[in-house]
Amino acid sequence: MNTHPPLSNIQTRDVEALLHPYTPLHKLRENGPTVIERGKGVYVYDTRGKEYIEGMSGLWCAGLGFGEEELVEAATEQMRTLPYYHLFGAKGMEPAIELAEKLKEIAPVPISKVFFTSSGSEANDTQVKLAWYMNNALGRPKKKKIISRQKAYHGVTIMSASLTGLPYNHMGWDLPVDRVLHTDCPHFYRFGQEGESEAEFTARIVKSLSDLIEREGPDTIAAMIAEPVMGAGGVIVPPAGYYAAIKAVLDQHDIILIDDEVINGFGRTGEWWGCQSLGMTPTTISAAKQMTAAYAPLGAVMVPEDIYQAYVDHSAKIGTFGHGFTYGGHPLGCALGVKAIEIYQKRDIIGHVRKLAPVFAARMDRVAKHPLVGEARYCGLMGGVELVADKATKRPFDPKSGVGPQVARILEGHGAILRAIGDTIALCPPMVITEAELTELFDRLEKGLADAEAWVAKAGLRTT
Ligand code: PLP
Repeated sequence: MNTHPPLSNIQTRDVEALLHPYTPLHKLRENGPTVIERGKGVYVYDTRGKEYIEGMSGLWCAGLGFGEEELVEAATEQMRTLPYYHLFGAKGMEPAIELAEKLKEIAPVPISKVFFTSSGSEANDTQVKLAWYMNNALGRPKKKKIISRQKAYHGVTIMSASLTGLPYNHMGWDLPVDRVLHTDCPHFYRFGQEGESEAEFTARIVKSLSDLIEREGPDTIAAMIAEPVMGAGGVIVPPAGYYAAIKAVLDQHDIILIDDEVINGFGRTGEWWGCQSLGMTPTTISAAKQMTAAYAPLGAVMVPEDIYQAYVDHSAKIGTFGHGFTYGGHPLGCALGVKAIEIYQKRDIIGHVRKLAPVFAARMDRVAKHPLVGEARYCGLMGGVELVADKATKRPFDPKSGVGPQVARILEGHGAILRAIGDTIALCPPMVITEAELTELFDRLEKGLADAEAWVAKAGLRTT
C-alpha cells in the first residue's frame, strides 16, 4: 500500500521531466521529490512552505548560505560588464586574472599557474591529463597510472568517476578505466583489524601503498590523488601521521600528490585548506564548490612552477596547449570567486569555523553515544554519523534495508536536510551558521535519531 501523500503539481512536473542525479529512480515517483523554492541564510523552504536547515550547504558548497547580497551584487555587476568571455587563444579578462592571483596568494604551497574548469570533476579530469602531459614532456611515457583510494570521491566524468572509489560509481558504468589503481581507505574504525592500534593500522596501509607501487612498477605511476578529509565516501578523517608517511613513499618514487580540495577548501576544516589541517603537502591542487560559495559553477587546478615549465616545453614541441573548456574561467564564476574569498577574509569566516568547531565536536560526541551510532567523526564543520545494527560489534545494517536514506527522510520531516552516504549521515552546514542555529540543527538530528531508533526496532532491523 502506498502511504505517501499524492504528489503536488510541481512534484509531478518534476518526475515527468527530470532525470535526477544520485537518486533511486525506481522510488522517485512513489516518494516524490522535495522541491526547494527559496533560501535565506542557513534555511531553505520547499514549495509547500516547509522550512529546513540546509545542514549540507547543498552539496558541501554553499558555505556562505543563501541570499548573500554581496555575492548577488558582484554577479549582477559582472553580468552587466562582461557576461561571457573565455581564455582560449591567449584571450584574457580581469575576473579570471584576479581570482588566479588571489588563489596564488592563499595557496598552501607555492603555486605558479591556475587553470580554470567548470566543475570539480573537470578539475580532477584535467589533473590526470596534466600528469600524463607532464610525463610525456619529461620523456617518461610509461609513467601514467594514477593511484586513488577506496571510498574516495573525485567526481563523475569517465576519468574522475574512475578515480572515485565507490561501487555505485563503477557498477553498471563500465568503470574504472585502466591506468587507475585503488589503495586502502584510511578509515580506522571500519578497516582497523582486531587488536590493531591506529598507528599500526596507518603503518599497515602505508606499507600496502608501497607494495602496490613496487608491484606495478614505480616508473608506471604518475600520481596519487587524495581528499585530505574524504567527503562523499562518508566524512573519513585519516589518522595523524598518515599523509606524512604517504608523502615519503610517493617522493621516493617521484610520484606527485594531487590534493583534491573540492570539499575541504576555503575554510571548511578550520584552515584555508584541508591539507593544512591534516598535515598533507600537495604537489598540485583541485578546487571548486566553496570557491564561489556555490553561487556559480567553477573549478580550478593549481600547479607549481616546475610542472608549469614542463607544459611550456611540451607546448613548444606540439605547437599549443590543447586543453580547455568553453566555460572554464567564466567571468561570472570568477567574479563570484573573488568576492567569496574577499568575504571569507573580511568576515574572518575561518575564525568563525574555528570558534564553532568545538561546539560541533561536543554535539557529535554526544550523538556518538546514541545506540544506533557506531562512530561520529568530524573535522572543522564537517561530520559523519555512521549508523550500525550493533554498536558493540560495529555490524552494519543490511544495505538492502536502506536505513541511511530512510533516516535522511525522517530528518527532513524534522526540518534538517542532511545527506545519507550509505548508512552514514553527513553534516556540512554553511560556515556562516550561528551557534544557536547549529544547536537547533543538532536538536533536530537527535529528534530524528530517536524516531529512527523506533522505526528500526519496529522493522526488526537490528536482529541478526
Ligand atoms: N572532488 C570532490 C572531493 C568532491 O566532493 C566532488 C563533488 O562532490 C567532486 C570532486 C566533483 O565535483 P563536481 O560535482 O563539481 O564535478
